[in-house]
Amino acid sequence: MFKAKKRFIAGAVCPRCSEMDKLTMYTEDEKDYRECVGCGFKEQMRLQSAPKELDTRVNKTKEERDAEVQPVKLIDPGESN
Ligand SMILES: [Zn+2]
Repeated sequence: MFKAKKRFIAGAVCPRCSEMDKLTMYTEDEKDYRECVGCGFKEQMRLQSAPKELDTRVNKTKEERDAEVQPVKLIDPGESN
C-alpha cells in the first residue's frame, strides 16, 4: 500500500525555483500537500478539490472487473424444441 502517493502536477510551476513539472502532490492524513522535487519546496494545499484516488475508493483489479463482465452466451430458446 502507498502511504503517500505522490503524483506529478502536469504543467505546474514551482513558486520557489520556477521549474516546471517538478511539483508533486500527495495526500497525507487527509491533507493535500505539494512538494517540489527540484528545490524541496513543500506546502500544504488548502484546496479540497484534489481528486480522491486513494484508499477511500474501492480499487478493483483488472481481473475483478473482467470477472464481473462475463461473456453472455446467446442461446435461442425457441429453436424447434
Ligand atoms: Zn522548486
